[in-house]
Amino acid sequence: MVDHRSSAPPALGPPKPSEGGAVDFIRAIVEEDIASGKHHGRVATRFPPEPNGYLHIGHAKSICLNFGVAQEHGGTCNLRFDDTNPTTEDVEYVDAIKEDVRWLGFEWSAELYASDYFERLYQFAVELIKAGQAYVDSLSADEIRKYRGTLTEPGKNSPYRDRSVEENLDLFARMRAGEFPDGAHVLRAKIDMASPNLNLRDPALYRIRHAHHHRTGDAWRIYPMYDFAHPLSDALEKITHSLCTLEFEDHRPLYDWLVNAVDVHQGSDKPRQIEFARLNLNYTVMSKRKLLQLVQQGLVSEWDDPRLPTISGLRRRGYTPESIRDFCARIGVAKKENVIDVAQLEHSIREDLNRRAPRVMGVLRPVKVVLTNYPEGQVEEVDVINNPEDESAGTRKVPFARELYIERDDFIENPPKKFFRLSPGKEVRLRCAYFITCHEVVKNDRGEIVELRCTYDPATRGGDSPDGRKVKATLHWVSAAHAVPAEVRLYDRLFSVEDPENAPEGKTFLDYLNPHSLEVLRDALVEPSLASAAPGDRVQFERLGYFSVDPDSRPGALVFNRTVSLRDTWARIAQKNS
Ligand code: ATP
Ligand code: MG
Repeated sequence: MVDHRSSAPPALGPPKPSEGGAVDFIRAIVEEDIASGKHHGRVATRFPPEPNGYLHIGHAKSICLNFGVAQEHGGTCNLRFDDTNPTTEDVEYVDAIKEDVRWLGFEWSAELYASDYFERLYQFAVELIKAGQAYVDSLSADEIRKYRGTLTEPGKNSPYRDRSVEENLDLFARMRAGEFPDGAHVLRAKIDMASPNLNLRDPALYRIRHAHHHRTGDAWRIYPMYDFAHPLSDALEKITHSLCTLEFEDHRPLYDWLVNAVDVHQGSDKPRQIEFARLNLNYTVMSKRKLLQLVQQGLVSEWDDPRLPTISGLRRRGYTPESIRDFCARIGVAKKENVIDVAQLEHSIREDLNRRAPRVMGVLRPVKVVLTNYPEGQVEEVDVINNPEDESAGTRKVPFARELYIERDDFIENPPKKFFRLSPGKEVRLRCAYFITCHEVVKNDRGEIVELRCTYDPATRGGDSPDGRKVKATLHWVSAAHAVPAEVRLYDRLFSVEDPENAPEGKTFLDYLNPHSLEVLRDALVEPSLASAAPGDRVQFERLGYFSVDPDSRPGALVFNRTVSLRDTWARIAQKNS
């Protein structure tokens, strides 16, 4: 078996031209900044996941962008965990995220945690209080919401807004010391309660949370808000371009306010936030909260269930890192929200595996064929090309004998007009072997077909007839005595509607699960060359699709996942119905 697992290329190497030719708007900004000497030509990005779930294909877009932009300019890209929400975060997620980023083929310049900055962030907050730019508010969460106003109405100042600097410093220190229960106070920036941008109406900077943090333990009783921690972490790391998704566009004025209010590096150039459209894919959900629900409710097996759009799920399904990077390069980066057809992702993996997956034969739903004129006990080895797309992959020998299995679907006793595969009296080719003709159908007492008795034409060895006789179908097969049993898991879309996240009133995305998203075939038979196949190996089962060996697989109990069919069956169904 050829091992087609990919090894990750070393990441931040020498600059290389951006993939795909055309430069997107973010790369254009970066190139302009380099040309104008901004940041002294330095490029520093970061990928900032919150460790509250596994990464998904949307994150892959952000990873390819952040690491890609840095790579192309000999810059740096940090992996920064935005771990400011102790109650939802966990080291399990930190480890999974690191594994996924590496598997995608990227290596970070530094591994950093927002929690490493907690002390410095606290000191920045103290600075803001001293400058009269932050205050401790003692309104309840409900009151704060009421005071905030709406998009059409200005907010109202909190009665606590004009506390003295001394009182604010004292209260903030006591918040830190754990003197108050959750929700008793918050630290807020003092900006403008009448701003048309709600994010500038005295946003919260710190909240009290008596919670254990996976890294800082019980050291902190207050935790910084994302909107406070993120820009200042960027500034601390001297990030030049802080790339994030569009929903943060309205937060940019606050981002800028903070990096200007807190002069982290005494005047050196400041990070710039640039927003791009997130990746949306149809027939799936991508919010980590929803993915977590699917996992917790047992609706999928785990975070790496091959039906999930998680990186670990795609990996288990048989996707290659190259195919995911190719997909990200093809969809590009733009400012406008859109929905990408999951068929595009499937296209990328099909193209990659077409180039490198060895072709093998496996019968998913077997029916027995007996060649009545083939000598009992004889075994031949037929030569089969491993990959017509890759001459260097060579050929292999596959045993052929009197008793074989073919796909049950490849035989119909009373075929409709345009059925060219096997039926009584019809001649077909067995791939790389012989022409065979069916002359008898053997059934059990329930009327089910148990055996097809056929004759073979010895003159057609190798799969061609010397008299120029043509057949219309070529079937895959395995030798009964040599085949290896396998379990095959067929996957389909997890949801039966395009946009499960947009469920109508009274329904949730869970109401749209596709009941047929997993079909397990336990009686499959595969050719003996696969006996030693190892988890992660990828093959094409001829005529059926691309498959990869699941981590559940054991010698003698092989398990294959269907990565993707050979052609897009959904497109064909849609075409037929239109
Ligand atoms: P979710 O809503 O799924 O929980 P998130 O945005 O909260 O996602 P983070 O861990 O905060 O997840 O994301 C890390 C980075 O990945 C952020 O910069 C975020 O903007 C980016 N990102 C998340 N989802 C997508 C997506 N669908 N497309 C592109 N980038 C994304
Ligand atoms: Mg987030």
